[in-house]
Amino acid sequence: MQFIPPLDLDQLKGFLAKDEAEALFQAALLTSKNGPVLEIGSYCGKSTICLGMACRENGSSVFALDHHRGSEEHQQGEYFHDPDLYDPGSAQVDTFREFRRNISAAGLDNTVVPIVAASELAARHWNTPLGMLFIDGGHSLDAALADYRCWVGHLLRGGVLAIHDIFPDAAKGGQAPYAILRMALNSGLFEETARVNSLALLRRL
Ligand code: MG
Repeated sequence: MQFIPPLDLDQLKGFLAKDEAEALFQAALLTSKNGPVLEIGSYCGKSTICLGMACRENGSSVFALDHHRGSEEHQQGEYFHDPDLYDPGSAQVDTFREFRRNISAAGLDNTVVPIVAASELAARHWNTPLGMLFIDGGHSLDAALADYRCWVGHLLRGGVLAIHDIFPDAAKGGQAPYAILRMALNSGLFEETARVNSLALLRRL
């Protein structure tokens, strides 16, 4: 099935290439029949919409986990800070309003379940097997390791683990996502099935 975005994804804030968007959709289309999708790091919802369109097709759901306070690189004074997403009232980044608007505009209010919390907190009582896990949260080593350790065990056999921002060349980007990719492969629990741009797709054996 072809991925037809419900709105122009290029107009949305976020960091996801076209080929990555398509790959996320296709992976979720295959796996969300077996269990819901959980995404870590939704930001303004660009990737959530790709996953959500596939889940809606299957009558499944996307749990979109994000504290919506921005990652390290989104904070004031940092390279990826966006003043539109800064809430002067709370003196914090707040991406939830923009996220919510985009999910509604995409017609996915009945498919996407936002979880506005830290990854470790949300994982504490989690007990639902996942068809797919997409890790695109904080890019510090601590954050990436926590996301991996908290959630990977919930993935069903045959499910897909997707990791964004894989840069084997350290000059091109941070190394934390690449570190958890290698950890997954070294565990013997996964095989890499595709690499699309900076997106790695692994299958849980
Ligand atoms: Mg990313």
